[in-house]
Amino acid sequence: MATSSSSPDTRAVHAGRDDLAALGVHVPPIDLSTTYPLPDVQHGGDSYEVLATGHRPGAQDSYVYQRLWNPTVARFEGALAELESCAEAVAFASGMAALTATLLATVAAGKPHVVAVRPLYGGTDHVLATGLLGTRVSWATAATVAESIRGDTGLVVVETPANPSLELVDLSALVSAAGSVPVVVDNTFATPALQNPARHGARLVLHSATKYLGGHGDVIAGVVACTEEWAERIRQVRAVTGALLHPTAAYELHRGLQTLPVRVRAQQAGAEKVAGWLSSHPAVESVRYPGLPGCDPHGLVGRQMAGPGGMLAFTVVGGHDAAAAVAGRCRLITHAVSLGGVDTLIQHPSSLTHRPVAADARPDGGLLRLSLGLEDPSDVIADLQQALSRLPAQA
Ligand code: PLP
Repeated sequence: MATSSSSPDTRAVHAGRDDLAALGVHVPPIDLSTTYPLPDVQHGGDSYEVLATGHRPGAQDSYVYQRLWNPTVARFEGALAELESCAEAVAFASGMAALTATLLATVAAGKPHVVAVRPLYGGTDHVLATGLLGTRVSWATAATVAESIRGDTGLVVVETPANPSLELVDLSALVSAAGSVPVVVDNTFATPALQNPARHGARLVLHSATKYLGGHGDVIAGVVACTEEWAERIRQVRAVTGALLHPTAAYELHRGLQTLPVRVRAQQAGAEKVAGWLSSHPAVESVRYPGLPGCDPHGLVGRQMAGPGGMLAFTVVGGHDAAAAVAGRCRLITHAVSLGGVDTLIQHPSSLTHRPVAADARPDGGLLRLSLGLEDPSDVIADLQQALSRLPAQA
C-alpha cells in the first residue's frame, strides 16, 4: 500500500487501489449498474436524501441510481483527489461539464460574479463571456485580480500554464490577491504530475481529463478536485443536471493515472528538445515554452511546477496563412485539436480552440500550439523541418 509519504510516482500507480487485495482482484472492478435494488422504501428514501444533497454514501446507504453515485467513478475521483492533494474530486462527462457545474454552484450560492484571468481555453472564455450560465465576468490579469473583486464575487478562474500562450501565473500570489474568494485553477496543461494548485491555496482544481489524465485520446471527461464543502455543492449540481462520467471511462482514466508521471516526463523531454530547436529556426518568430529563457519571469518552474511540461506554442513568420500552411503540411504530427495524448498534435488556436474568444483577446494568427507525444523527438523535429521549410526566414 502506498502512503502519503510515498513518492508521487508510487502514489500514481497505487491511488484508489488499496482495497483490491481484500476484494481478491488485481485491477478495479467496473460497476455498470444504472439502478440498485433497495431493501425497503424507507432505506431507499433515506439514501436518496443523502446522495441528492451531494453527500457521500455511508456504509449503510444504497447507491440508488447511477446519476447519484457510482463506485467505479468514485474510485477514480478518490485517486485523482489524492494526486491533487485535495479532500475530494467530482468527475463529469467533459471538462466543460465540470466547469459548468462549478459555475452553477457559484450562481446557486448567490455569488454570480466571476473574475477571470485571461488567457483561458477558448470554451472557458466563451462560457464566461456569454454569461449563459448566469455568471457575470470581469476580465483581469494576475495583477488586477484584487481590484476586480466585488461583494458578489464567487470565484476567481485561472489557468497556468495558460492555453494556448503557456503564460504562467504565480498561484500563491493570486490566491492571496483573491482573499476570501475561492480560486479555481485549470490544471489541464500541468497535470498533478507537475503541479498541485491546492498546495498553493487553490480551493478547486479543474481538469479536462480528456487530455493528459486519459492520455490516449479515447476518453472525454472532466474532473474538479476540491474541498469537501465544494464537492458537496458540485455533486448536487451533477445529480440534478446529469453530466455524468460513464464508469468505463472512469476505469480508463484511473488506469491512465498510473502512467501519468512517466508519460508527462517523456513528453516534457520531447518538448524541451523541440522548443530549443524551434527557437533557432529562421522561419519561427517566437517560441513560448516555460523552460525557455524569458518565458518564466517569476521563476515558477522548480518552485510551483516541477518541470516546464509537454506543451509549447510558436509563431511563424508570415502570420495566419503561414501558420495554416505549416499545420496542413505536417505528416507525422497530426493536425488536430486536443492535447496530452501519446501522439504529437498541432493546431491553430485562433481558428479552432480559441475561435469563440473576442477578437481583441484572441491569440495571434501566426500562433501554432504543439502537444508533444511519445515519439522520438528527432522524428517530430524532422516533420516540423519539412513543414517549415517553405516559409520565408525572419528579416
Ligand atoms: N480546459 C482546458 C485547458 C482545455 O484545453 C479544454 C479543452 O480543450 C477544456 C478545459 C475543456 O475540456 P473538454 O474538452 O474535456 O470539455
